[in-house]
Amino acid sequence: MAVQRIKRHKQKIKQVAVLTSGGDSPGMNAAVRAVVRSSIFLGLKVFGVHRGYSGLLDNDVHPMDLGAVANIIQRGGTILKTARCPEFLKKSARKRAAENLRNRGIDGLVVIGGDGSFRGAHALATEFDFPIIGIPGTIDNDVFGTDITIGFDTATNTGLRAIDQIRDTANSHERIFVVEVMGRNTGFLAMDVGIGGGADAIVVPEAPLSVAKIAQQIKRGEKRGKKSCIIVVAEGNKSGKSIRIADQLQQKYGYSSRVCILGHIQRGGSPTARDRKVASGLGSFAVRELAKGFTDAMGGIRGRDLVLSPLVESFKKRKTFQKDLLALVEALAT
Ligand code: ADP
Repeated sequence: MAVQRIKRHKQKIKQVAVLTSGGDSPGMNAAVRAVVRSSIFLGLKVFGVHRGYSGLLDNDVHPMDLGAVANIIQRGGTILKTARCPEFLKKSARKRAAENLRNRGIDGLVVIGGDGSFRGAHALATEFDFPIIGIPGTIDNDVFGTDITIGFDTATNTGLRAIDQIRDTANSHERIFVVEVMGRNTGFLAMDVGIGGGADAIVVPEAPLSVAKIAQQIKRGEKRGKKSCIIVVAEGNKSGKSIRIADQLQQKYGYSSRVCILGHIQRGGSPTARDRKVASGLGSFAVRELAKGFTDAMGGIRGRDLVLSPLVESFKKRKTFQKDLLALVEALAT
């Protein structure tokens, strides 16, 4: 893909709206707070859209003041609620959304969500010339253009706490545990949870590991007297993957194991310091860049810098997955 420049709009931004869309993630509230407070700091009027794109279509749009975001920085989930809105795939619905916003005098939008939400945001920004900046909120960390997404750090630490607890019982009973973590199409979360949790093997969509190889890892541990074993599996496209792995370990290799699917536990909870800082920085950055005249872009963090990249890249380009870290897992599990 050719290098793309960040687009500019000609609107004088006076009123902005913010929404959260798609899967929720811890830290979204801190981002909403930053958008609201930074807007007011810059002298802009600010509105909260409830239930993502559905709220844009239903005019579920409410003015927000400084107090509206008081005492939410520490709360998981999103006070604005989120939704999946299939109707938004239609251009006619997006047209209505742009009209609804304009009718209220809103001239800029901040979308907090994942790559699906950014597809919608890109369409709305380009088809109807509506100024939009996206900021990445997903526990999967699978968005191109940013080192980290809002919620990833909290979800990683939630996964780690679970593994630490599983490890206690695994050791006591001398058991093998297959732990399934979230991650729809990517293994970023599984990788960090697995490394931090001292897993014996990690199974991710980017580098599928055969059951034979997993069994080999278990055997290696057994030979040197290990009494327990933890295998971390990213859910991938189909949930229940961990159950299939456990079944095959039993049927083909005679290893009995316990499966633990962490599921939505990983999406909740109070955001970590890192997620609050990332969310606060990105929320504020999004408003400032929108007011400066940028649009159809995503705010992200690279190294220590807040950066803008074209929204289209966030879902068209694939973030590099550090496969070499799997060698680290293997080496440390020996
Ligand atoms: P996430 O943002 O967490 O990846 P989804 O993939 O469910 O979550 O997307 C959230 C919402 O974004 C969808 O329900 C839909 O309203 C909108 N959306 C997703 N893909 C598109 C698309 N190709 N065109 C327009 N809107 C989209």
